[in-house]
Amino acid sequence: MDNNSPYLHPQYETLSREEISQLQAERLQQTVKRCYENVPFYQQKFKEMGITPDDIKTAADVRKLPFTTKQDLRDTYPFGMAAVPLRDCVRLHSSSGTTGNPTVILHTQKDLDEWANQVARNLWMVGLRPDDVFQNSSGYGMFTGGLGFQYGAERLGMLTVPAAAGNSLRQIKFMKDFGTTAVHAVPSYVTRLYEVMQEQGVDPRRDTKLRVLAIGAEPHSEEQRQRIEQMMGVKAYNSFGMSEMCGPGVGFECPEQNGLHFWEDYYIVEIVNPETLEPVPDGEIGELVLTTLCREAMPLLRYRTRDLTRVLGHSCPCGRNHVRLDRMRGRSDDMMVLRGVNIFPIQIEKILMTFPELANNYLITLTTDDDNDNMTVEVELAEMFTDDFGRLQKLNKDITRALKDEILLTPRVKLVAKGTLPVSEGKAVRVVDKRKVYQ
Ligand code: ADP
Ligand code: ZN
Repeated sequence: MDNNSPYLHPQYETLSREEISQLQAERLQQTVKRCYENVPFYQQKFKEMGITPDDIKTAADVRKLPFTTKQDLRDTYPFGMAAVPLRDCVRLHSSSGTTGNPTVILHTQKDLDEWANQVARNLWMVGLRPDDVFQNSSGYGMFTGGLGFQYGAERLGMLTVPAAAGNSLRQIKFMKDFGTTAVHAVPSYVTRLYEVMQEQGVDPRRDTKLRVLAIGAEPHSEEQRQRIEQMMGVKAYNSFGMSEMCGPGVGFECPEQNGLHFWEDYYIVEIVNPETLEPVPDGEIGELVLTTLCREAMPLLRYRTRDLTRVLGHSCPCGRNHVRLDRMRGRSDDMMVLRGVNIFPIQIEKILMTFPELANNYLITLTTDDDNDNMTVEVELAEMFTDDFGRLQKLNKDITRALKDEILLTPRVKLVAKGTLPVSEGKAVRVVDKRKVYQ
């Protein structure tokens, strides 16, 4: 590992497991005290559970603490979870509020500094240096992928281009003119960018200096990642973040690409059974629960992310012992239940990506026809061969069979021309549920 980073805290990256636990114990005690003394929501919960900060002595004692849910953040909207007076806060982010109140996350200047350090640590880890030119092609505004990567990349000392999402022709021009070596974007947008490159006769290998991609903020399969790497001719590293924990920077792949290192000097990571809320053994899928250890403005205890993943290990050939988690399979609320079968969109994606005849964009629609619930998978073709009906029919059959083997139901597959399905500039919308609800 290159430990010569003047910006980050390399000493924290290489802590042994024992040192991590010790640091977590200290930081957890401070966090719990901060919550208890300043946040009425937590004070109340502690009283109900009959605990005080003195009960927390080790990192494992985190299990004695109450959980926090997204609903709790909505109920205390906008500032009920603040642990400092508002005058000490310098930034507010808000996560999308599709139902009810959105959630608000507050930051002090120190919180923002730590966040920038986290992102910079990740970018350094995958080989980026001050000589690199970093183009951030993710949404800005409330979406933390914008400012989060902006400040992190600047902290590392790179020339940072706040290109934002969309306007692909301009993105490509920037990449060529500014000598962009690294791009961050949501994976669905990278594939769109590549399609526009193809239309323009631009070959990223030949015509750009791109050498690193950071992709994240939405679930994507290993197959999708590999496609992106082949298309763009560079490594694409998975980046995990969420507004409630700060934003990007929470977990990131190292050059080994064997799972996401979640930074345990910043968070205590638990994987629990979403029903019993008991810890699951390493290797088993469960809900990711995170406790912040360094947050001033809005510390969160045992935040239930609803993201489903599993522990892959606690050591890595890269020399970091921070827990490695599997790529997210989605949020528990992304799960579709169709005729009693549980299906994640990412399972569909995984299969589609194995067909070279298919492009990257797809849409799953759930409908009720004649009282039966059905799934239609529309997927764009990589090239047009609509005149070859026999070939199309065979392809359709093969895809349907492969999907059936994976999800145990037979979906309707529709092959459509490239560029016909909607593209979003932010996170991709993969599922439209039009089913009738019987009550
Ligand atoms: P919102 O809640 O409005 O979508 P966030 O940006 O806070 O806004 O979204 C965080 C969520 O995005 C995570 O909880 C997770 O579900 C998803 N996510 C973020 N990064 C990844 C990733 N690398 N892989 C899969 N899902 C991700
Ligand atoms: Zn590693």
